[in-house]
Amino acid sequence: MRLSRYFLPTLRETPKEAEIVSHRLMLRAGLVRQESAGIYAWLPLGLRVLNKVCAVIRREQDRAGAIELLMPTIQSAELWRESGRYEAYGKEMLRISDRHEREMLYGPTAEEVVTEIFRASVRSYKDLPKNLYQISWKFRDEVRPRFGTMRSREFLMKDAYSFDLDQAGARHAYNRMFVAYLRTFAGLGLKAIPMRADTGPIGGDLSHEFIILAQTGESEVFCDRSYLDFEIPPVTTDFEDVAGLQGTVDRWTSLYAATSEMHEADAFAEVPVDRQMAARGIEVGHIFYFGTKYSEPMGARVTGPDGVERPVHMGSYGIGPSRLVAAIIEASHDEAGIIWPDAVAPFDVALINLKVGDAATDAACAEIQATLEAGGLEVLYDDRDERPGAKFATADLIGLPWQVIVGPRGLAEGKVEVKRRAGGERENVDPIDLLARLK
Ligand code: ATP
Ligand code: MG
Ligand code: MG
Ligand code: MG
Repeated sequence: MRLSRYFLPTLRETPKEAEIVSHRLMLRAGLVRQESAGIYAWLPLGLRVLNKVCAVIRREQDRAGAIELLMPTIQSAELWRESGRYEAYGKEMLRISDRHEREMLYGPTAEEVVTEIFRASVRSYKDLPKNLYQISWKFRDEVRPRFGTMRSREFLMKDAYSFDLDQAGARHAYNRMFVAYLRTFAGLGLKAIPMRADTGPIGGDLSHEFIILAQTGESEVFCDRSYLDFEIPPVTTDFEDVAGLQGTVDRWTSLYAATSEMHEADAFAEVPVDRQMAARGIEVGHIFYFGTKYSEPMGARVTGPDGVERPVHMGSYGIGPSRLVAAIIEASHDEAGIIWPDAVAPFDVALINLKVGDAATDAACAEIQATLEAGGLEVLYDDRDERPGAKFATADLIGLPWQVIVGPRGLAEGKVEVKRRAGGERENVDPIDLLARLK
């Protein structure tokens, strides 16, 4: 992609309304634009990151055995009356009425809809277990939308819902998601710690929040520091292995880790002092087991092997991709801008032409772009007629993992310069070796 033809509205000035670094950088780097309070447009560069975050989430959901579908964002109030949540949900729900004055709402979550879909077709234990997930926009009329896409009113959510015959089955479903989440956040370059959590309005009795430590986080958390060094379950993890998964979850829940709502000072005091960590964190994922809370009132029943009908046991599992984009920036930036982890970088390489209009430099850049792209790398080629300083600043701000800097002086010696955005290391490379060097 040539930058001169792209749409990258970066800002020179630091936007005054942005209180935290990720919000400032998302606006400055032209990732998003606020259209009204807590409602954002995802601009092309931001959308590429969001899509990559979703790709990592999808990959791990699929591996864990979840099946993707897509449910409507606009839901009927009727369904929420069936579960008893319509009145209870309160002001966070955006309520709408259509031209026939039917009560509708913009879904803040989708337990009711998915339970309706399930009950319409599943009758027998033979069709279980099932885990259905979607990645779709949600709306919550947050009292205080803030920090950009970290707490917005319209936001993207991956929400999965599991259906099992009994509690033991549901426990396995929970463990699948628990392990998938550990892999997902690690795959995004983040250290997320599962913490015992309050179940809130979704209800139920088994719940963990996945928290990323960050000073700007809105949650107050208490945990054993050792979790930061725990090993992530490998790609070879067998999600059908009930005992194996339970073992992994037991290990990841063996030490103290709780959000403030679940914090017990006495238990925390038993953690060796040098391992006690009282910190702030960002909730990036949340998993719940809630049994028959929705299946019972909504009549989602299956027949067991004994011929007896019973409500299915359910769980739900959320991740916030749009919040994650901000959380990744909170965790990975410097004074000059964003430093994207490779997995979610909007492009792999910023190709910087130091002398646009110089025939040899232009030709070298065009060839490098073609070679790298043919080799499977995504290149953003800065072919603008701008001073080198401005190009370097843009490249650092938008944080692509590699910068390839091409100018007449280097070319005369048969070299281009490669800079790694993360550590700032530079080296001179023969263009012939470039693809191998960057892969
Ligand atoms: P919070 O405590 O931050 O309000 P929540 O507990 O209400 O979040 P859940 O219902 O658990 O959120 O939703 C699942 C996930 O959706 C959260 O873990 C988070 O990643 C994301 N999420 C929730 N609310 C927002 C929001 N307003 N903006 C962006 N992402 C959100
Ligand atoms: Mg909330
Ligand atoms: Mg929460
Ligand atoms: Mg939550």
